[in-house]
Amino acid sequence: MPEIAFLNGEFMPIEEAKVPVDDRGYQFGDGVYEVIESYAGQLWALERHLNRLRRSLSETGISGITVEEVREWILETHRKSGISRALVYVQITRGVAPRKHAWMTTPLRPTLLITVRRFVPVPEELRESGVRAITVPEIRWARRDIKSINLLPNVLAAQRAWERGAFEAIFVDGGYVTEGAATNVFAVRDGKLLTPAEGPHILPGITRGLVIEIAREEGIGVEEGSLALEVVMKADEVFLTGTGIEVLGVTSIDGWTVRDGKVGPVTRRLFEAFMERVEKGFDAS
Ligand code: PLP
Repeated sequence: MPEIAFLNGEFMPIEEAKVPVDDRGYQFGDGVYEVIESYAGQLWALERHLNRLRRSLSETGISGITVEEVREWILETHRKSGISRALVYVQITRGVAPRKHAWMTTPLRPTLLITVRRFVPVPEELRESGVRAITVPEIRWARRDIKSINLLPNVLAAQRAWERGAFEAIFVDGGYVTEGAATNVFAVRDGKLLTPAEGPHILPGITRGLVIEIAREEGIGVEEGSLALEVVMKADEVFLTGTGIEVLGVTSIDGWTVRDGKVGPVTRRLFEAFMERVEKGFDAS
């Protein structure tokens, strides 16, 4: 069960995958990506991830590659690895060219990298206890709906969270929560979910979308709109969603304890309902 990489048509051990220094991903962060989890050998919500990738490619004008070919390589790399519980990373950069901001009209060959690694789950204790979060000022660009590899503000925010012993940093823009450094944010008030609406200010998380659908199926109301930090602080429950964490309770924000400091019943129920669908092989595509 080797962890492997696929780079521009070739399979290799991850540490042997190398890109030229003039790759525009390396020079400018000029690329897009996806992270996909597999459960019991099945790539979870693959088509949803591919649809988002298609959109990221089109919004950034990265051409010369089709999502259909990317799908085949993802399936092949995952299959070759033999890892049934994997985290699959897919990155497409605009390609290699002498460093110049505009790519102009020169047709570049995009760089496609796929890595498949064994998935490391959230420790059971954290899932039980819930996690700490901090808030950070929103300093990102205005197209956060594109899953760009340009992640410097997210990296700085996540580092700050780590330094403070927190699991996640939540961006706050003018008193309103947008999302976490690598997660979407939900609050629960009076049994109903509140979460920022989709738009250019957040990434349309695949897990977020699935959790909203599951909640509605379970008869839990969902309100998508602006989410004030004040509302989050006073919520009955707060949780994060994302590939790799599924649904994870937040029990403290900036040192303030959310309600009684325990992972709440709605968070637990949604996590269980999510995992039930995974285990039943529910088609999340
Ligand atoms: N928001 C940001 C900024 C992210 O980077 C991620 C995932 O990496 C998410 C939300 C969650 O998205 P998904 O559920 O598709 O993993």
